[in-house]
Amino acid sequence: MRRCQICRKKAEVKLKSYGIYLCNECYTSFFERRIEESIRRYKIIRRGERILIAISGGKDSVALASVLKVLSNIFELEVQALYINLGIGDYSKKAEAKSREVCRKLQIPLNVVKLGDYGFTIQDVDIKKVCSVCGNAKRYIMNRFARENGFNAIATGHNVEDILVNFFKNWLSGNKQWTEKQSPRTEGFDKMVTRIRPLFLRTEQETNLYVKIKDLPTLAEKCPNTKTDRWRGIIDEIEAKIPGFKQNFVRNLFTEGYQEEMKYGYCSRCGEMTVSKICQFCRNAERYGKQKI
Ligand code: SF4
Ligand code: ZN
Repeated sequence: MRRCQICRKKAEVKLKSYGIYLCNECYTSFFERRIEESIRRYKIIRRGERILIAISGGKDSVALASVLKVLSNIFELEVQALYINLGIGDYSKKAEAKSREVCRKLQIPLNVVKLGDYGFTIQDVDIKKVCSVCGNAKRYIMNRFARENGFNAIATGHNVEDILVNFFKNWLSGNKQWTEKQSPRTEGFDKMVTRIRPLFLRTEQETNLYVKIKDLPTLAEKCPNTKTDRWRGIIDEIEAKIPGFKQNFVRNLFTEGYQEEMKYGYCSRCGEMTVSKICQFCRNAERYGKQKI
């Protein structure tokens, strides 16, 4: 019988990339400690910050909420969550219900904003553009809500696979500004609120295991617009041949530290920050909306 390498009880979890065996109980604290370590090493969070967690009901955001709640004592944080109802039919209703359930269980105050209150929903958008319009709407609402309600940082559940997929896509298209959008902590400026990604070194498998062992409510169903990304398969294949590849690669990305600055101005319609005259969100709202903001 394999034994847990921390407490010597029966091992239930094998972590291939670390080459270790753990019992369920030690695994949850191992996962939380790894995130605490990342927070300290990469200075992701400052003591006493008010953090707004972007919650979707999916496993990554639920794990993020749970870990930040645990670490809120250590770093003296105030944590709240924000769920954005994008109006994607039944899926959005179920995701909102799951977010409410998990926040109740974790005792995290939950805020809910409806995209429909801005005059359009994701169901109004052409299918080809749906994910880019949706991503833009989430970033816009999250930033505006966090700033208007005095939060110091927005925490998102991006995991190591998300960072790698983004890296490869941007790298191939010659976009060097990807680091600015993906680093563990992107400092806010002017109207932009700081972004933090505490799970940036955690794999999807580690996160899934954590929510399962902790018995946290999560939405198994994916958004009907989800597309499978071929980069995911490629990255998983490399990891199978070189255990630890994902984490080592991403860790090294953020020691390079090459970041190019973007030039921001203000949207002539809503006053939020943008690199163009009218921000992408206002252009989407005008195109898909029925009413003015
Ligand atoms: Fe939005 Fe769904 Fe696309 Fe995700 S998959 S960006 S939730 S439309
Ligand atoms: Zn605007």
